[in-house]
Amino acid sequence: MNADLHCHSNVSDGTLEPEVLAARAKANGVQLWALTDHDETGGQQRARAAALAAGLPYLTGTEISVTFAGVTVHIVGLGFDAGDEALRRGLAATRGGREQRAREMAGELAKVGIHGAYEGALKYVGNPDLISRTHFARHLVEAGVCNDTPEVFRRFLVEGKPGFVPHRWASLGDAVRWITAAGGIAVVAHPARYRFTATEEYALFSEFKAHGGRGVEVVTGSHTAAEATRYADVAREFDLLASRGSDFHSPDESRIDLGGLPPLPSGLKPVWEALESRIDRPD
Ligand code: AMP
Ligand code: MN
Ligand code: MN
Ligand code: MN
Repeated sequence: MNADLHCHSNVSDGTLEPEVLAARAKANGVQLWALTDHDETGGQQRARAAALAAGLPYLTGTEISVTFAGVTVHIVGLGFDAGDEALRRGLAATRGGREQRAREMAGELAKVGIHGAYEGALKYVGNPDLISRTHFARHLVEAGVCNDTPEVFRRFLVEGKPGFVPHRWASLGDAVRWITAAGGIAVVAHPARYRFTATEEYALFSEFKAHGGRGVEVVTGSHTAAEATRYADVAREFDLLASRGSDFHSPDESRIDLGGLPPLPSGLKPVWEALESRIDRPD
């Protein structure tokens, strides 16, 4: 099953419209799709309508920014009721600090001689509530400061580098509860990205499960083959459902296209089997 349950539109920090992503997913052979914009469900109706019109089964999605042990962790929610009020309020609160943070990031960049970064980043923003580091990265590439966005995230915008501003996102428990109470399943996104120690990672998965979290991304555009194997073991050890998603943002930036991932390792329980009743199917 070619399920792609993680990607971004220009409602957050992707570059394509939800409708264009739906068509691209379909053309690339995706058989079950979810749009998972950061901290935002504003693109869900458009994504679902376009997917169903293209004959593509759809699950609602979002990717919530969480602060855990001082580190930003992403929790993907799948198959929730997009109209759920508590979830919408939670996402709005999580998004709320982004504009102030962006102004502070621009202030930090100005200290190293990079001026006008806030205005520059804004040119790439599709949703004024959702200015992100990705928009700054696109501006720094366009301005000739860096050659590509990976270089930006090596030299700027990350802890210890110019332009980084620490930020407090949602709590792990709140994010998992918003998703679960809205009828969805919470999934730890791209766990290899956090560079946790074994003890910290054990704490993350233990607490995640204690709050009602049920899934982990095993195969993602952010993982190497070895990391997928490692998180397949974690899924078995913690009895978590396994998810799969490209994390596609842009044809120019993303290494893995929609639908372009290898299959889940065998012997795992795919998250989509537990979400069977939540899938919207074309008539
Ligand atoms: P924010 O939510 O504003 O902190 O921005 C986080 C986003 O920045 C992620 O969702 C990615 O799209 C992007 N990002 C973070 N780290 C990297 C990286 N090393 N390379 C490319 N993009 C990154
Ligand atoms: Mn992103
Ligand atoms: Mn992420
Ligand atoms: Mn993502």
